[in-house]
Amino acid sequence: MANQTIQLNDELHAYLLASSLREPEILGQLRQETAKLDMSIMQIAPEQGQFMSMLMKLTGAKRAIEIGVFTGYSTLCMAMPMPAEGKIIACDINREWTEIAQHYWQKAGQAGKIELHLAPAMQTLASLLEDKQANSFDFAFIDADKPNYCNYYETCLQLVRPGGLIAIDNVLWGGSVIDGDDESEDTVAIRQLNALLHDDERVDISMVPIGDGLTLARLK
Ligand code: SAM
Ligand code: CA
Repeated sequence: MANQTIQLNDELHAYLLASSLREPEILGQLRQETAKLDMSIMQIAPEQGQFMSMLMKLTGAKRAIEIGVFTGYSTLCMAMPMPAEGKIIACDINREWTEIAQHYWQKAGQAGKIELHLAPAMQTLASLLEDKQANSFDFAFIDADKPNYCNYYETCLQLVRPGGLIAIDNVLWGGSVIDGDDESEDTVAIRQLNALLHDDERVDISMVPIGDGLTLARLK
C-alpha cells in the first residue's frame, strides 16, 4: 500500500476490467469495428468511456461539446446517459471515420442527440460563440489535434457555464510529457496546456491517470 497512485500491470488492469467494466453491447461492437483500423489506438479506453458516462450522469449534462470524434465511441459514451433532449456538438474533419460513428449512433438510437460538424473544430467553436452560445454548455471533451489544445481549452472556457466541466484527454501522452528529449509539436503543446492548467485560477482541476491521462477542469 502507498499513498501514491497505483501502477497497473497487465494482470491488474485485466482485473480492473473484469471487475468493473459494464460496456453496453453496441459499444463493444464499435470497439471491435474500430480495432480493424490502422488508427484504432486513438479510441479512448473502455474504462475511460465508462468513467465519462459517469461524469455525464453526475453533472446531469444536457449540452456537451466533443472535439475529436473519430469513430464515435467517446461520443456515444457521452450521449447514452443524456436525457432525450440532450445535445452534443461533435466536431471532426474526417468523413470516413465519422461515417462509422454516425452508423453506430443510429444503431444505438442516439443519433438524435448528436450534431456532427465536419469542419476544423476552431471554426465550429467560433460559430457557437457568434451564435451567442457562450456559457451554455455543461460539458466539453477535448481530444483532437494537440497543437490546438490551448486554443480549444480557452474557447471551451467561454462556451461552458460556471460549474461546467472540461475534460482534456491524453494529458500524460504515453509518458512523453516527462521525456526531456521529446520536443515534438504534440508533446510540447500538451506540456504547455498542463502547465497552464496547473496555475489557472479560473478552474478547479484534477489530473486523473485513467487511459492516457484525463484532466478535469471545472469552471468556477
Ligand atoms: N474521441 C475519439 C475516441 O475516443 O474515439 C478519438 C478522437 S481522435 C484522438 C482525434 C480526432 O480529431 C480524429 O478523428 C481527427 O480526424 C480529429 N481532428 C484532427 N484535427 C482536427 C481539427 N482541426 N478539427 C476537428 N477535428 C480534428
Ligand atoms: Ca484521445
